[in-house]
Amino acid sequence: MYKLIDGKVISAAVKERVKNEVAELKTKGITVGLAVIIVGEDPASKVYVSNKKKACEALGILSREYALPESTTEDELLNLITKLNADPEINGILCQLPLPKHLDEKLIINSIDPEKDVDAFHPVNVGKIMIGDYYFLPCTPAGVMEMLKYEGIEVEGKNCVVIGRSNIVGKPMNMLLLHKNGTVTICHSRTKNLAEICRNADILVAAVGKPNFVTADMVKDGAVVIDVGINRLDGKLCGDVDFENVKEKSSAITPVPGGVGPMTIAMLMQNTLTAAKKHNGLI
Ligand code: NDP
Repeated sequence: MYKLIDGKVISAAVKERVKNEVAELKTKGITVGLAVIIVGEDPASKVYVSNKKKACEALGILSREYALPESTTEDELLNLITKLNADPEINGILCQLPLPKHLDEKLIINSIDPEKDVDAFHPVNVGKIMIGDYYFLPCTPAGVMEMLKYEGIEVEGKNCVVIGRSNIVGKPMNMLLLHKNGTVTICHSRTKNLAEICRNADILVAAVGKPNFVTADMVKDGAVVIDVGINRLDGKLCGDVDFENVKEKSSAITPVPGGVGPMTIAMLMQNTLTAAKKHNGLI
């Protein structure tokens, strides 16, 4: 019998904690503010930005949205970020990716003040994560760690396998598991004997972006299976794991939707609160 790791329940617990702390800061005259920048008309990005705005409103966090046209130049975007870096009302700045092709994502991310970089994509924050001296964690891997903690799933000494090595999910996921003393294997598209490596995992994290990629024969009996993937198959949202066939082999598993997805926004709210506390000398 497997345990369903419910991202809706766990993210609600995180958000409740953040909401209470935001309210407490308000009694000290401190507001918490997030600026979200979106450039262009990407429909998925628009949904993400709207969800982030709603979450801010529900938790008492000031949210400012900057919806810029596709034609925005690099200079215009950099000027806006410079202003927000200096704006005392704004604790967190998020630039929704992907950006239109004519804008240099690296340059834009690097222009955000690392202390306001609530996505934790700035090289300073990436470096801090590497050496284990961080205050922001990238939201999706941080959400996975929060789920493991909430469910009392010990990482120390476990064989952890992460499929995927992207900068926003796979690589930081590996570092966070390592910081918790997991024995971590990183897999990617050139990995040989992937199924065999996965069968050795006590904790298996899939961040591939391919529906039904992780099949039951890749999963050890009793493994914890975390599905980061967000895909569409026949118009339906699904993850990277063949959930129906894998669930009975696992001891615990996240569904899609309702798994890691809701955690990502909750951790963004948590990072924005952390930034506000840091800016006000409270941590
Ligand atoms: P990327 O496309 O950047 O990375 C995918 C990774 O999967 C790469 O490292 C790639 O390897 C690896 N991969 C691809 N094919 C194979 C294969 N056949 N065997 C082994 N590894 C393979 O995606 P992201 O990391 O950005 O996202 C991954 C998934 O997570 C997506 O579905 C995305 O939508 C979802 N996501 C979900 C979030 C959430 O909030 N739940 C947040 C962010 C992402 P290589 O490096 O060799 O190319």
